[in-house]
Amino acid sequence: MLLLVDLDGVVYRGPEPVPGVAEVLVRRAGLGDGIVYVTNNSMHYRADYVARLRSMGLPVTPDRVVSAPRATALYLVEHNPPARRVLAVGALGLRRELADVGLEVVAADEAVRRAVHERIDGFVAARRPDTVVVGLDPDLTYDRIAVAADAVRAGARFVATNRDPTYPTERGLAPGAGSMVAAIQVASGVEPVVIGKPEPLLLEEAARVGGASPSDVIMVGDGVLTDLPAARALGARTVLMLTGVSTRKEVDALPADERPAAIAEDAKELEAALEVLAKG
Ligand SMILES: [Mg+2]
Repeated sequence: MLLLVDLDGVVYRGPEPVPGVAEVLVRRAGLGDGIVYVTNNSMHYRADYVARLRSMGLPVTPDRVVSAPRATALYLVEHNPPARRVLAVGALGLRRELADVGLEVVAADEAVRRAVHERIDGFVAARRPDTVVVGLDPDLTYDRIAVAADAVRAGARFVATNRDPTYPTERGLAPGAGSMVAAIQVASGVEPVVIGKPEPLLLEEAARVGGASPSDVIMVGDGVLTDLPAARALGARTVLMLTGVSTRKEVDALPADERPAAIAEDAKELEAALEVLAKG
């Protein structure tokens, strides 16, 4: 069995580990299950997750972390025709993931300067990206939106890491990648390809990395609006944890054919659910 394990709301909540989950995953790995960690977070590099998960005692290697930026990078090089030169609107983690798979990442600031003065024709002539990737960009500016929209309008493929409208912080909700994707979508008039959940592409990449067919995949997630529909689109079963964003009320309100295979309130219930699903 391959477990696709969502991070925030399942393995940890903000800075705090979810009690007992790491131990359950260690025991499942000992029984032979594969584990690939997945997250819609578009800001960080895989090494950041590897360090954090190892500090919690979890067995993990960088290839077993499929974040939205990593899945985006894999998608771009596997897609036909493959991307070569990418204009990235996003954080450092996104740019590093794109560069890791051999893509030429156009420095957004340099491109911005050119585009502001030369607009579409000059920009395209100077250094035409074949793809524009948008994730959460904490330094997003008006000029950066303008150059990304120009490039998309000039024919570059438009790819979004994810479309989460917001994400939770200690000070309440902060604008997510989706709010920035929306700005460039509206300015360019083009719909992006979306990699992250609830679209299935991130989980497809993760299942491929784990070498499993969808019927052998169990998604362990906390999002009724993200993890659950993405897993269903992949053809995988879901254990929905109530340790994160979703409540039992929200799960109960789902139509029968959209319910998760199991619901778990804590690590103990997760372990019991995985034992049942492993049997058949
Ligand atoms: Mg989550």
